Amino acid sequence: MKKNDLIPLTITGITSEGSGVGRHDGMVIFVANSAVGDELTVRIIKTSKTYCIGKIETIDTPSPQRIDSDCPVFTQCGGCVFRHISYESELALKQQRVADAFQRVGGFSTLPLQPIVGAKKTDRYRNKAQLPIGRNRDGQPILGFYANRTHRIVSCNDCALQPVEFQGAIQAFQQWLLSSGETIYDETTHQGKLRHLYLREGSKTGERMVCIVANGTSLRKESQLIQLLREQVPGLQSVVLNTNRDKTNVILGKEYRTLWGSDTITDELCGLRFQIAPASFYQVNRDQAERLYEIAADDSALTGEEILLDLYCGTGTIGLTMAHKAKQLIGVEIIPEAIENAKENARQNHIQNSEFFCGDAGKAARTLQKRGLRPHVVILDPPRKGCSPDVLETVCQMAPDRIVYVSCDPATLARDVKLLCEKGYALQKITPVDLFPRTSHVETVCLLSRAKMNTTVR
Ligand code: SAH
Repeated sequence: MKKNDLIPLTITGITSEGSGVGRHDGMVIFVANSAVGDELTVRIIKTSKTYCIGKIETIDTPSPQRIDSDCPVFTQCGGCVFRHISYESELALKQQRVADAFQRVGGFSTLPLQPIVGAKKTDRYRNKAQLPIGRNRDGQPILGFYANRTHRIVSCNDCALQPVEFQGAIQAFQQWLLSSGETIYDETTHQGKLRHLYLREGSKTGERMVCIVANGTSLRKESQLIQLLREQVPGLQSVVLNTNRDKTNVILGKEYRTLWGSDTITDELCGLRFQIAPASFYQVNRDQAERLYEIAADDSALTGEEILLDLYCGTGTIGLTMAHKAKQLIGVEIIPEAIENAKENARQNHIQNSEFFCGDAGKAARTLQKRGLRPHVVILDPPRKGCSPDVLETVCQMAPDRIVYVSCDPATLARDVKLLCEKGYALQKITPVDLFPRTSHVETVCLLSRAKMNTTVR
């Protein structure tokens, strides 16, 4: 097969990134924006020894899963991958992806897999946006999202996953950008100032934050920017400047300066109020995060007597929403601002049985274990790469009755759960939760319990 060949192709599967897959003459072909069951004519755009990448030329017989996408930039933007199939089909694919990970990566044959918890709202659910700022081919300033796997910006002022109120911030920012003449950062030359517009909201409270990420510590006409934002962003609570001078793909730098309003915004989750600093992690889909935390709380089965260890705790959300059912809560997190938020969140919600430590989960867990800490329940909620082996090792040495593992990556989750099962834990329950409708991502909660309960003396 060679570039520009036109071939007939039936799509038979979907990758974890959401790309369709089919086979032609034994060769695997990946086709973006296709659906299982599609019969297509595909143009080959890239070839390699083991696979090819194709582009849809014509849809000859559409898959029964197909619906019309309602987003003008769906096929260009790297955000959504499932706007062309029904939500029901998307949920089935995500459920299957979790099952596949446990079978292929984890080597599990029987799975205690619960049905995926779908979302009521599949649009406008995100409370966070990070829009890169650049120039189009004519040199005009644009804001939008990166095209899949590239740093080419697809201009988009109203993403269907984001709250409509973010449009006001984008418009005000663009107005200021044109009149202030502030410079735009160029990745290749490392010159220019404006890098990203970072927006956040408390979905329940309606509080909003605008954070400008810049290659510098001040902006031209700051007061005009604040004025425009205050006029056009409902619920504006905070305007922050983040300085990022590094040659990096990481969006945020380390320095923050509040230009107007407060340093944080507040949201409400599971009946508690949480402060969120721009550097702190906060689940992007608040409504589904509540479902997720409810499942994690059920799995934890707290009775009021337990010591609960929340590793990778962020601003303390999971542990604090369960603290009233535990004797003691200990949280660990690596970002100092998030730990400050967690302590403040405990104080404001009148939770007195909690302590929070800033540090690496593995190192902190080891220190706590050496001091003799024996938690009854451990929550693990690591980033996508999963837990490091030392975290899993130390947690097993602490011998909690239950481990509740929350993960945004089924493959690293399955890998880590396999290891925990080798160390004496039994996988009791797997519940996928769709926190990210229309994108390829899926969240999962796993309950593990100590298999040989009677043999280890507390
Ligand atoms: N449980 C929280 C946060 C989960 S996101 C919630 O539901 O809101 C994962 C968190 O792990 C992030 O806050 C991140 O800052 C933190 N993290 C990343 N690496 C870490 C490490 N090595 N040790 C401790 N925390 C870490």
